Amino acid sequence: MTVQTDEDEPASAVLVATCHTYGCPADGVPCVGTYYANAEEPTYRGFCMRCGETITDLVPYETAA
Ligand SMILES: [Zn+2]
Repeated sequence: MTVQTDEDEPASAVLVATCHTYGCPADGVPCVGTYYANAEEPTYRGFCMRCGETITDLVPYETAA
């Protein structure tokens, strides 16, 4: 059994994205999702599923202890 490590595989991270678009139904509503790193900045990009705007408020998801 071989364990393969692919350095080129994009790292994924579970982040909490919060839309801050004025008037958006999801404004201020945190949305947890899995995001994959981009080769270029910004590393993680989120898009609001309600208004389609780019979400810049992405923070690491931490489970409450
Ligand atoms: Zn939105």
